[in-house]
Amino acid sequence: MQVRIPVSFPYEAPVSQSLFERASAVTPGGVNSPVRAFRAVGGTPRFMVSGAGPYLTDADGREYVDLVCSWGPMILGHSHPEVIAAVQEAVSRGTSFGTPGAGEVELAEEIVARIEPVEQVRLVSSGTEATMSAIRLARGFTGRPKVVKFAGCYHGHVDALLAAAGSGVATFGLPDTPGVTGAQAGDTIVLPYNDLEAVRAAFAAHPGEIACVITEASPGNMGVVPPLPGFNQGLKDICADNGALYISDEVMTGFRVSKSGWYGIDGVRPDLMTFGKVMGGGFPAAAFGGRADVMAHLAPAGPVYQAGTLSGNPIATAAGVAQLRLLDDAAYEKVDAVSAELRALVTEALAKEGVAHRLQVAGNMFSVFFTGADVTNYDEAKAQESFRFTAFFHSMLAQGVYLPPSAFESWFVSTAHDTQAVERIAAALPAAARAAAEATE
Ligand code: PLP
Repeated sequence: MQVRIPVSFPYEAPVSQSLFERASAVTPGGVNSPVRAFRAVGGTPRFMVSGAGPYLTDADGREYVDLVCSWGPMILGHSHPEVIAAVQEAVSRGTSFGTPGAGEVELAEEIVARIEPVEQVRLVSSGTEATMSAIRLARGFTGRPKVVKFAGCYHGHVDALLAAAGSGVATFGLPDTPGVTGAQAGDTIVLPYNDLEAVRAAFAAHPGEIACVITEASPGNMGVVPPLPGFNQGLKDICADNGALYISDEVMTGFRVSKSGWYGIDGVRPDLMTFGKVMGGGFPAAAFGGRADVMAHLAPAGPVYQAGTLSGNPIATAAGVAQLRLLDDAAYEKVDAVSAELRALVTEALAKEGVAHRLQVAGNMFSVFFTGADVTNYDEAKAQESFRFTAFFHSMLAQGVYLPPSAFESWFVSTAHDTQAVERIAAALPAAARAAAEATE
C-alpha cells in the first residue's frame, strides 16, 4: 500500500534514512517488528539511539516526546534510575544461569500479590509465548480443541490466533497470513467484539468443543475499544456455564491501567491471564497464570509441556521487579492525570478545527478515531478516516512528538511525562489538528 505523506512535512532524517537502507538490505522490510516500519503512515522510521524520561532521541539528534513508550512497557519513562541500577546490579552477577533464581521468585510473588485471580504464574519471554502457552494449557486442561477469539484483538503472532473475522455469527477462522494452515486456524472461531449473542451462538453450535474464550481485557490493538458494560462478565458466565476457560489477555493492560491491570477496574475474575510489557521493565519478560488447579496441569507438575531457555532471565526479572515495586498508587494517579490532561488537549485541538473524532479511553490508555461515531468493534474501527491520522501523525512528528505510527494503536504515557513534555505536545496539537482537517484521501 502506498501512503501519501502530506507535502508540508518534508523528510528530515538522513541518518535514520541511511540506517533504514542498511537495515532493509539485511532484514525483511528493514525492521524486526512490522509496525515499526511506518508502512501505515508512510515515510522513514526514526531510528532511536537513546531515551530519557518522556523523551526519545533519534540518530539524527532530534528529540521527541514519546507517546508510544515502547508500546506500553516504559510506564516510568525511559532510563528510570532505579530500574537501570537494578539492571546494572543484576548484570554484574552474570546474565543467564539456566537454573532457578531468586529474581524469578520475586517477580512471580509481585504478580501473585497484585492480581488476586493469579494463584500460580509461569514466566516466559514474550506476550506471544504467554498467550500461546495459555491456550495450550486451556486445551490440555479441558481436552477440547476450539478457541474463541474476537476480531481486532491481537494476542501476538500465535498461529491459531492469526485468524481474521469472516462474516456470519460463528465463522471458522480463516488464516490471516500465509504460513498459517487451515488446520492451525480451523479450530479458531473468530467473533465480532462486544457481541455476547455471537458468543452464545458459537457455544450452541459447538457443544463440548470450545476449550476457551480469549479476549484482550480491554482491547488496545484496534485502537482503544473498551468492553461494553457487562461484556467481560458475560464472557466469564458463558464460559463457566459451558465448562470452558475464560482467558483475559492483559499483556497490554496488565500493571498499566491500574496496580492490578484491567482486573483492578472491572473485577471480572478470569480462569487464566496473560501478561507482558510493563512487568518486564523494558526487557523480555512475560507470564501467564491463574487458577492453581489449571496451572497444576503444566509441566513438570502436570502433563502440558511448556519451557524456555531464557524464561525468568535474571536481568529481565530484576528490571521487572524494580519497575513493579516503583508502581505504587501515586504512580498510577500520575499516569492517569497525564493521560486525562492530554486527552482534553487533543479533543480541544481537533474540535477547534471541526475534525470529526472519537477519543476512546480505557484507564490511562487512549486513542483517537477519526470518525463521528462511537467505535465498539473492529469493523467500526476500520470505518474511520485513517488518512486524517496520517496527516496528524506527520505533523506531530515534524514538531517533535512521537505517536504510534498507525491509527489502530493505543497511545501510552508515563510517570515521566511532566509539565514540560505536556506543554510541548500542547504546542504541537493545533497545527496537527489543522493538518488532519485539511487532509484528503
Ligand atoms: N497480547 C496483547 C494484548 C498484545 O498487545 C501483545 C503485543 O502487543 C501481545 C499479546 C504479544 O506480545 P509480544 O509482542 O510481547 O509477543
